[in-house]
Amino acid sequence: MFDFMDMGFDEPGEPITSGPYIPEASECLRCGMCISSCPTFRLFQIDEETPRRRIRTISKILVENLPISADERKHLDNCLQCRACETVCPSRMAYGQLFDQARVQLKANPGWLVKQAFRLIENKRWRTRLMPLLSVYLKSGLQKPLRSIGLLKKLHLAEAEALLAKPALQALAVCYPASAKKCGKVALFTGCIAEHFDRETLLAAIKLLNAIGYEVLVPPQQSCCGAIHQHNGQPAACLIDNNIKVFNALDVDAVLHTATGCGAMLSEYQSDDNEAAELFRQRLYDINDFVLKHWLDGLQLTASDLKVVVHEPCSQRNVLKNQQAVYALLQKIPGLSIAALADNHICCGAGGSYMLTHPDNAGQLRALKQQVIADSSADVVVSGNFGCAAYLNADGGRVAHPLLLLARQLL
Ligand code: SF4
Ligand code: SF4
Repeated sequence: MFDFMDMGFDEPGEPITSGPYIPEASECLRCGMCISSCPTFRLFQIDEETPRRRIRTISKILVENLPISADERKHLDNCLQCRACETVCPSRMAYGQLFDQARVQLKANPGWLVKQAFRLIENKRWRTRLMPLLSVYLKSGLQKPLRSIGLLKKLHLAEAEALLAKPALQALAVCYPASAKKCGKVALFTGCIAEHFDRETLLAAIKLLNAIGYEVLVPPQQSCCGAIHQHNGQPAACLIDNNIKVFNALDVDAVLHTATGCGAMLSEYQSDDNEAAELFRQRLYDINDFVLKHWLDGLQLTASDLKVVVHEPCSQRNVLKNQQAVYALLQKIPGLSIAALADNHICCGAGGSYMLTHPDNAGQLRALKQQVIADSSADVVVSGNFGCAAYLNADGGRVAHPLLLLARQLL
């Protein structure tokens, strides 16, 4: 049996190191309260795969300026950045922030293929040109033979290819007028990949916002939120600054995001221009919060007898911390049975790009989540994060955004 307290660490409260003061790293008490929430500890059951051991490695990098071993690097890289450790930590360790800083210091040097993927995420024009090709590929019947001869695996594309769904080819309109008496104007953050692969959710969001009296602007100049870049030690400043500039220039009441993974990143935007970043963050809302807050008196939804379980994405539980808004919104549908999915504190394995970079670990976590979903005998699983839904659905899941359920019940 693994003994959390018998790790031979320093006494609680003793600083990890001397050197430059990084409050978050040096305030780890080694209490072990984060261990049972950590998905990699759940998989490996060894101390090297715990948050507190990773904090020690991060401290070595950031505070002591010491080289780390290949083994320490491997265990650090295994982190999903789910930030469940942050939520339970009595010292409120800023794990996500520290991890990102450590990654930058480690100067990750991604391979050619990964670099192209980053470029594709950054460049809207390239993405728009690629989508018709993907669409043809999906219709061509080439998937089966290419998978069977192992070519996709050799090209390190097998994991990404398995996630492919039919992409939306048309751009969204720039403006969607309110369908009820107009009470305001909002801007919608659509993301990079989600713009093509989660179109249904974006349209449901627009329909609901229009129904509660909001005109919706979709600025075409917006870019990817930068989360994948930042979490992989790549520069995200250009993407961040562009989004701040594009959204701050709009005369809107709020900027809304539909995917909690992007929302977590957007909510922590920093820039050299502090004032601009502050303005951006002030007007930013998760769509569930916004729709709930501005629900129109008298807006009726048709009843449903579905049994729904709520998957709470890590980005929502551990960063935005607004999962209660999802339950409150779903209660607007008369007759719906709503429950929390068991083990919501454990990551589903998606973890941004983790499902592509660590397919074995991610696959094991997904299998655990899928078992919990099967045990729930729910008709539908809702998740506020596109990445989690896409990953769980790739293996034949039935996960949808909560707004899709609401929009379908509009009278
Ligand atoms: S819960 Fe926080 S203080 Fe305790 S070991 Fe984990 S990171 Fe350190
Ligand atoms: S972020 Fe998640 S995977 Fe990483 S150490 Fe914390 S709990 Fe574990």
